[in-house]
Amino acid sequence: MAGSGTAHLRRPDEVLLRVENLVVEFPVGNTGLKVNAVSDVSLDLRPGETLGLVGESGCGKSTTGRAIMQLPKPTSGHVLLDGQDITTATGVDLRAARSQMQMIFQDPISSLNPRRRVAGIVAEPLTVRWLDSFPHSPVSRAWEAYTRRLVGWWYHLWRWGRLTLPLLILAALTWVVGTRAAESAGPEEELSGIAEALSKLVDVTPFVAVPAAALAAPFVAAFAATAAVWLVLVVVMPIAAIPRTVKVRRDRPRFRREADAKVREVLDTVGLDPDIAMPKRPHEFSGGQCQRICIARALVLDPHLLICDEPVSSLDVSVQAQVLNLLEDLKARYGLTLIFIAHDLAVVKNVSDRVAVMYLGKVCEVALSDEIYERPAHPYSAALLSSIPEPDPTIPQRGAPRLEGELPSPIAPPSGCRFRTRCPRAAERCAEEEPVLRALAEGHFVACHFPLTEPAAAEREVAAALAP
Ligand code: SF4
Repeated sequence: MAGSGTAHLRRPDEVLLRVENLVVEFPVGNTGLKVNAVSDVSLDLRPGETLGLVGESGCGKSTTGRAIMQLPKPTSGHVLLDGQDITTATGVDLRAARSQMQMIFQDPISSLNPRRRVAGIVAEPLTVRWLDSFPHSPVSRAWEAYTRRLVGWWYHLWRWGRLTLPLLILAALTWVVGTRAAESAGPEEELSGIAEALSKLVDVTPFVAVPAAALAAPFVAAFAATAAVWLVLVVVMPIAAIPRTVKVRRDRPRFRREADAKVREVLDTVGLDPDIAMPKRPHEFSGGQCQRICIARALVLDPHLLICDEPVSSLDVSVQAQVLNLLEDLKARYGLTLIFIAHDLAVVKNVSDRVAVMYLGKVCEVALSDEIYERPAHPYSAALLSSIPEPDPTIPQRGAPRLEGELPSPIAPPSGCRFRTRCPRAAERCAEEEPVLRALAEGHFVACHFPLTEPAAAEREVAAALAP
């Protein structure tokens, strides 16, 4: 498997999210090699639809979800949310787009800041959006960006003072030594004061040939430049930011009231008591409760699209069912569109309308949920389904061969079909030509030269040998 193609995409005006030819590559140090995490993936979602994204660990499904959020920015390709290409958006525009699509991460505990209280964690997206609603002047924007990385006012003084003070001392010493040396008849003659002491340590002969002012000029210029930067950072930029800061402070009480009410509402929606949960920190909750907090944080901005990256894989089975039911309820209540990323096909079957199967950074099959579970056309999909344990011993296991071996390295993926090194139906053509997604039936697309609806290579050879 492993193919490219856009045959499965629907009309742009029908869909909420359209991902076109998404590529994510990571460099391998300075070797010139790259990890092909996601290669030419195209997907789309209608409003209110749930797309299940499945595959083995390392197939690129989580990276696809993150790249849709622009975390990280894709290497190439387009992500269109409601017709707007967010791959070209930056800063405030990107944050505005992200407020329409939120992500729930795999490990609920590590995705919550352990030092903050639940009230602050859940309100954080609201705070970011509220602050973005106050326009910045270019200077105050630069000041915000700068101060966000630094500790405080005194840190500025110390940081720039550290740089300017040695330069000042060096400039003064150079001036003194140069002046004294130039006034002397030669380096052999006695000098006095600091210059005398320094002359014992260094040979001042070169200073005599160069005018003192020329020696000191570079240091004085460096000092002046540093002092100018310091003046801009510590005086001009904070003053330019004052009007916006005043507006933010005036509006803060109103924002706090509204944010508090919204946080209470979403915590209540996900089944947590706001009065008990809000003052606590994440370590005081179980894994399932932490995942509910993550869901509350994702919902607080009223997003249209929720990307759930293996939201139940780190939870107990009983808690998994609770969280899945909660997601279903929230989807119905808020009209959410979901991307549900998982390696557990049994879980995906229950929540998805449509399923896309990924292998080594490529999409190999896309179909409606029931269709793909009943009639998988790609050998990889069939092997994945056959690996689901059947709890009822009276029901025969699926006949497809189990997957064996490891995923090939994404640094040097196989030529042609990326699944060919593990595929029982692989033939010569699979190594030479990459399969492209094509329609098998209405809504069912597969990237395979010899899908399971057609005879396998061995059967084809037998049929050819028997042919008259
Ligand atoms: S039959 Fe060929 S194209 Fe199809 S999955 Fe196997 S290796 Fe890939």
